[in-house]
Amino acid sequence: MLQKVEDLKNVSSKEVLGYATGEHAKEIEELAKSLRGKRVLHINATPQGGGVAEILKSLIPYLRAFGVEAEWYAFDPAQAPSGFFGFTNRLHNALQGEPTEFYQEEWATYERVGQQVAAELDEIPHDVLVVHDPQPLPAARFLSHKLPRILFIHIDTVNPQKGAWGHVLPFVEEYDQVVFSNEEFVNSHISRERFRVFQPAIDPLAAKQRMVPQEEARSFLVPFGIPREGSLVVQVSRFDIWKNPSGVVEAFRIARQNCPGTKLALVGFQEAKDNPEATKVYERVKVMAQGEKDIFLFFDPEVLAGSSIGEFTMMVQNAADVVVQNSIREGFGLTATEAMWKGKAVVGGPASGIQKQIIRGENGLIAVSVEELAASLEYMLTDKEARARLGTAAKESVRKSFLMPRLLLDHLRLYKELVSPVEN
Ligand code: UDP
Repeated sequence: MLQKVEDLKNVSSKEVLGYATGEHAKEIEELAKSLRGKRVLHINATPQGGGVAEILKSLIPYLRAFGVEAEWYAFDPAQAPSGFFGFTNRLHNALQGEPTEFYQEEWATYERVGQQVAAELDEIPHDVLVVHDPQPLPAARFLSHKLPRILFIHIDTVNPQKGAWGHVLPFVEEYDQVVFSNEEFVNSHISRERFRVFQPAIDPLAAKQRMVPQEEARSFLVPFGIPREGSLVVQVSRFDIWKNPSGVVEAFRIARQNCPGTKLALVGFQEAKDNPEATKVYERVKVMAQGEKDIFLFFDPEVLAGSSIGEFTMMVQNAADVVVQNSIREGFGLTATEAMWKGKAVVGGPASGIQKQIIRGENGLIAVSVEELAASLEYMLTDKEARARLGTAAKESVRKSFLMPRLLLDHLRLYKELVSPVEN
C-alpha cells in the first residue's frame, strides 16, 4: 500500500542554520545531537500536490541534515482499493463540516486499509511514527508495538459532521500527540495535554521563495501581457469567495483615481480542472474587469507556456510594489508569508490567519472594508518610504517566526519529548 518517496533534495545543516535565529540555531543543534540516528517515519497520502507534500519535501531533508534518519512513505495509488481516495476526499470535507453520506462498506474499507498500512509499518524500522491527515490515520490502532506516534491534522475539525467524527475519533485517540496548524482548528474532544500547535512555515531554500530584483521580475511578466511601466499591485490566491478578489478589484479602482497607471494582477491558477466553484468566482471577477487595460487575471495554467505555476508566482510576488491578501476567512495564508519574506509591503484582509502574521502598521496593513483597502493601497503606492519600512519589517517578522528552521525545531522538540534520547 505504501511506497517510499525518494529523490528528495539535499540541504546542509549550515544552510538551514543560516535562516534560524541564534537561539533557535543553538537549540536545533542540541536537540539534533541527542536525536542523531533516531529513525523518524512520516506517512501521508501523496508525494505530489497539496500542502502536506510541500512541507515534507522540505522537512525531511532538513531533518536529515542534522543526522535524524527521516524517511517518507506515501500511498501507492495503484495499490489502494478503487474508490478509496474518493472516499477520503469526502471524509476530509466531512471532517471540516460538509454534510456527506457514507456507506458502511466504506468505513470497513477504511479500516482494512489501515490494517494493511500498519502491517507494512511493522516491517519498517523506526523510533517515531508521524502520520499526516485522514488517509493513513487508522493505522495506529493496528500496529503491533507502542512506539511514539504523532498525528498531524492539517484541517479545521471544530465543527465536523458528527457521524464521520464519531468514526474517526477512536483512531485519533490511538496517538500520543495530535498536532494542528492553528489552535482554532482543534476539536473540543481532544484534551489540552494531547494536542499542540505548530504554525505553518515556508522554506527559504525552496525555489518558490527566491528573491529576484524587481526589475528582472517585471521583465519576466512582459510576455504575459503586464507592461513594465506603472506600479504593480498583486494578489496571489485561488479564485475563492473567502479570498475576496472582487473586493480587490473594487478597491483598486478607487485607489487608481489618485495613482494613474497602476496595474493590478490577480493570480489564482487553477491546478485541477474540476473546481466549478473557482471557475464561477473567476468568471464573476472577469466580468468586473472587462474592458480594463490595467487589470490582469491569471487562471488557466495554459497561458504559462514554458513556465510553471511556481515560477510565475514567485516572479509576480517579486515584481509587486504592493501585495494584497484580502481574505475574509483564512487559516493562515501562506501567500502573505511568501510576499512578506520577499520584503513586500502587504495589505491583508480581516481573516484571523492574516492577523497572525500582520501587526497593523508594524509589518504591514490590515484593511477590513473596500474603502480601507483603497486607502491603504493609495498610501502604500504614494509613500515609497512607508512601503520600504513595512516591507523590511515584514521580512524580519517572517524570519523570526515562519521559516522552516522554526518548524524543524518544533518537530525536534516533540520527538525528543516522546523518545528516550541516545546518550553520546
Ligand atoms: N499558489 C501559487 N499560485 C497560484 C495560487 C496559489 O503558487 O496561482 C500557491 C501559493 O504561493 C501558496 C499556496 O499556493 O504557496 C496557497 O497557500 P495559502 O495558504 O495561501 O492558501 P490555500 O490555497 O491553501 O487556501
